[in-house]
Amino acid sequence: MKVVLQHLTKKFPSRNKKSNDEVIAVNDFNFEIPDGKLIGLLGPSGCGKSTALNLISGLIQPTSGRVFFGDDDVTSLPPENRGVGLVFQSYALYPHLTVRENILFPLQNLKGSARLSKEEMEKRVTEAAKLVQIENLMERKPGEMSGGQQQRVAIARAVVKMPRVLLLDEPLSNLDARLRLQTREEIRRIQRDTGITTVFVTHDQEEAMSISDMIVVMKDGVVQQIGKPQDVYDDPINLFVSKFLGTPPINVFDARVQNEKIYIGDEAVLDAPGARDGAVWAGVRPEGFVPDENGPFTCRLTGVEVMGRDVSVVCGHDKNAGAGAVRAIISAENRPAEGAKTVRFSLKSYKVFLFDHDTEERIRFGEFEVK
Ligand code: ATP
Repeated sequence: MKVVLQHLTKKFPSRNKKSNDEVIAVNDFNFEIPDGKLIGLLGPSGCGKSTALNLISGLIQPTSGRVFFGDDDVTSLPPENRGVGLVFQSYALYPHLTVRENILFPLQNLKGSARLSKEEMEKRVTEAAKLVQIENLMERKPGEMSGGQQQRVAIARAVVKMPRVLLLDEPLSNLDARLRLQTREEIRRIQRDTGITTVFVTHDQEEAMSISDMIVVMKDGVVQQIGKPQDVYDDPINLFVSKFLGTPPINVFDARVQNEKIYIGDEAVLDAPGARDGAVWAGVRPEGFVPDENGPFTCRLTGVEVMGRDVSVVCGHDKNAGAGAVRAIISAENRPAEGAKTVRFSLKSYKVFLFDHDTEERIRFGEFEVK
């Protein structure tokens, strides 16, 4: 089921009685979620992710704009008539009911022509339990299960009604690191097995990038960029998006362009054909540094963090405009010599992005240049 958001906007009145400022939690969302895909809504706290999800579910009504499921305009339908499955951060299971009863519950409440026979309900519950691999825990109560198991029950309960759209709001936040990893893979598998169009909300870029077919990066209620995770990472539209994706984060330098060369401090670190002279932010992905004793970029070595196959070379640089130290990820074989005070690198041009110093919008150059 494809989901179409048309100029969708949600404004909340100010909570401050003295001011009339309203919060635009979702500002003119205008995009399509393709049928059978998993899309990740991604952005920092307060950017409007949950509001967007709640508009799709029908839990809240938009100030303006429309929501379509396929060709159906569902904007004024309540959640129970939209055919959505919802999973939240808190599993919200009924503590006094067993796993079987929890999954069965939504089916027992179906009305009219949607009502199912007892046998059909049993069959659906068993299938949903199998899908999330909890068949052997059916008689347990939620309190007798781990967080990951409870979240699987919540997912089974959401898919048992065979929803047209599955909506997940930070479903992994209450799980420990190992379970998060395992459960996110589970969600991906379940989504692939069922082919249900799924919207997944998270503030964790790694989580969104790893399981989504498409990500929507948001800031202050405004969509910044939509695309396949790799494409957005490789070709960010502005400084915010470049900083939001990637671990370790992109390195940002206060730089300038002069005669089609990028200068960081006094060093001309890279050619920038087509770029205009002036102050810029230069973003360099950690994997964009190539150790090179004659390289144009020099920084002060402060440490080397072992990551296994690779090492993270940690450096200081006067023009670093990022929050932490400069980090270069290089192969462990090329780690700097013991006792070295400085390291030199050349830069991979496709890992270097320029941004306008004022607007923070991307400045394209060379192969990235828009002709
Ligand atoms: P988080 O990751 O912290 O859950 P989020 O990206 O999901 O954040 P929302 O919960 O959608 O963000 O909130 C977006 C903005 O709308 C925030 O500024 C929030 O304070 C505001 N907001 C959300 N719900 C309401 C409400 N019922 N009344 C007033 N303001 C609200």
